[in-house]
Amino acid sequence: MNKEKILVTSALPYANGPIHLGHLSGAYLPADIYVRYKRLTGAAIIYICGSDEHGVPITITADKEGVKPQVIVDRFHNINKKAFERFGMSFDNYSRTSLPIHHETAKEFFLEFYNRGLLVEKKSNQFYDEKAKMFLPDRYVEGTCPKCGYEEARSDECENCGSLYDPSELKNPKSKITGETPSLKETSHYYFPLGKYQPALEKYVDEMNEKFGWKENVLNYCRGWFREGLKDRAITRDMDWGIKVPVDPPAGRAGSAARKVIYVWFEAVLGYISSTKEFSQVKGEPDLWKKYWQDTETKYIAFIGKDNIVFHTIIFPAILMAWNEARQSTGQSEKEKYCLPQNVPANEFLNFEGKKFSKSRNWGIDVDEFLDLFPPDPLRYTLAANLPENRDTDFYWKEFQLRNNSELADILGNFINRTFTFVFKHFDGKVPHRGKLEKIDEEMLKTVSAYPKKVSDLFEKYKIKDGVLELMNLARDGNKYFNDCEPWKTIKSDKEKCATSLNICLQTIYTLAELFEPVIPFSSEKVFKMLNATPVAWNKCGEPQLKDGHQMNTAEILFPKIEDEIIQEQINKLGKSSTEKKENKMISYDDFMKTQLKAAEVISAEKIKKSKKLMKLKVSLDDGERQVIAGIAEHYEPEDLIGKKVVIVSNLHPAKLMGEDSEGMILAVEKENGSLQVITVENSVKNGTRVK
Ligand SMILES: [Zn+2]
Repeated sequence: MNKEKILVTSALPYANGPIHLGHLSGAYLPADIYVRYKRLTGAAIIYICGSDEHGVPITITADKEGVKPQVIVDRFHNINKKAFERFGMSFDNYSRTSLPIHHETAKEFFLEFYNRGLLVEKKSNQFYDEKAKMFLPDRYVEGTCPKCGYEEARSDECENCGSLYDPSELKNPKSKITGETPSLKETSHYYFPLGKYQPALEKYVDEMNEKFGWKENVLNYCRGWFREGLKDRAITRDMDWGIKVPVDPPAGRAGSAARKVIYVWFEAVLGYISSTKEFSQVKGEPDLWKKYWQDTETKYIAFIGKDNIVFHTIIFPAILMAWNEARQSTGQSEKEKYCLPQNVPANEFLNFEGKKFSKSRNWGIDVDEFLDLFPPDPLRYTLAANLPENRDTDFYWKEFQLRNNSELADILGNFINRTFTFVFKHFDGKVPHRGKLEKIDEEMLKTVSAYPKKVSDLFEKYKIKDGVLELMNLARDGNKYFNDCEPWKTIKSDKEKCATSLNICLQTIYTLAELFEPVIPFSSEKVFKMLNATPVAWNKCGEPQLKDGHQMNTAEILFPKIEDEIIQEQINKLGKSSTEKKENKMISYDDFMKTQLKAAEVISAEKIKKSKKLMKLKVSLDDGERQVIAGIAEHYEPEDLIGKKVVIVSNLHPAKLMGEDSEGMILAVEKENGSLQVITVENSVKNGTRVK
């Protein structure tokens, strides 16, 4: 059997801001899980992405900062590329649309259509800012959507309801540059005849759906568009930043040298092709890209978020159809036909703690910022277990903590850890001999062997979330088997039976390490290292792979628990802008008096072993002693604190930190170098004295 040949793309992120968690769970994480899974099945798969670096928002940002657009795209391309790497995205190539290779590709398509007379030249009325003396393309204009009434709609497109309309239909237009009401002025552009392709597009969508089962949300979107009727769309714009139109521009920009670029909606999707070309060049096989793009056998899957559906189910396919239709004859030109997306598993949106992500309202968190605080795998797992596949979902900090602590650590990590601990304690870290199988063992082996297919059946249907949830069930099965076998008893009563149980636990861990690889690749790698083993083909990993007597490496903690304090800190930050954080908010005297600050003497102090930051203190007040956990272990030695009179907030709700009770909070100042200094009072002050 020939290897499956698969091309996967994820929507090109826009290089005008850092990506956030919502982006990850839309077009990136599900694609990465699918790609990693397919690689393990042995498919010939390439995974392509890159930055979308043209368009008006970038020029707006550049204008605001007084820099060239290239500065903006350089900045965000690098930030996002690095964030993706840290998150474990396994792109084969991550390109950029500002590269010459992309400009050439886009111009090739434009010229192909232009030379064949496919493009229509049309005069149209476009918003013109008299004060700024320039045409205002799409997002330079804001107004009220004629279809849904959304007040931040663009000149020809509404982000809220997804409608496209003529600029003359927009209500209450405002120029984003000067704030003036712009006038409509005539200009001339080339149009792509999208309407001409409607019958072919409808047929394409129906056929693909019949064969490969498209998602309901995607189909509904397409059908809505078809019902409205596809219209010709301008593929040039009056602006400087972008891919220069490779032919003499049509007349119509009176009085100034016509500067037109290819409209970003037309060229950005071609970025997938140019990124694959770049990948081929880097690999030293310049024609490799053709083996994927120009082969009808290729299975092309385009992962996107719902805001991009029209571009990947209608516009991009129409562009490729228009290219292909000139190559219907047999022979060489037939070979230049592009494959169209076979499936477009678009996700709905991920919101953040019940609201839309918003940079300006400081609602949400950038990927980079997140990964400074936590490792990538718990984030990957949390997002994967909650993908917005059929409806919008939310990221909640508390859920993240719960998924990490109660699932990754307590179920998966615990099963691996207890098995390793046992095998190292009683079997010298070698895979114990598998002896006679009892019913419970046979059942467990059968259970484990069923998982690769169970999970791949779901992944094949792009039910990534269900597949991920299923994976954790295998870890649950592992724990149950461990408990039922009671190796801590059989080690004394029947060592051979114990060995068999542990052998099967280790085989199960092997299966878990492989099946979880697409979701938590960093941890999977660690587990394989612990097992001193490497992955096999996906459909084989459910069978026992570890030989009796195989030497393993010592275990490490895979998923450290996340403390309440750390999560609360993140929740507290939400919605507070950096200026607001600095602002002195006035409170009433009564509000202040609610906080009971008291002098307290430190009786004893010790560092908490499992924590870098935390120290356990006993302090004495007027009403006796109490325990306080403070995050000062990096700044003080315990003996420096004993005998000091510190100030504590004595009426805080008790909390548990690293399993220790804390009844109060010690006041400290953070110095400029980041070191902490606790607030002290003179030793003559009586314990429990109110500070006010
Ligand atoms: Zn609307």
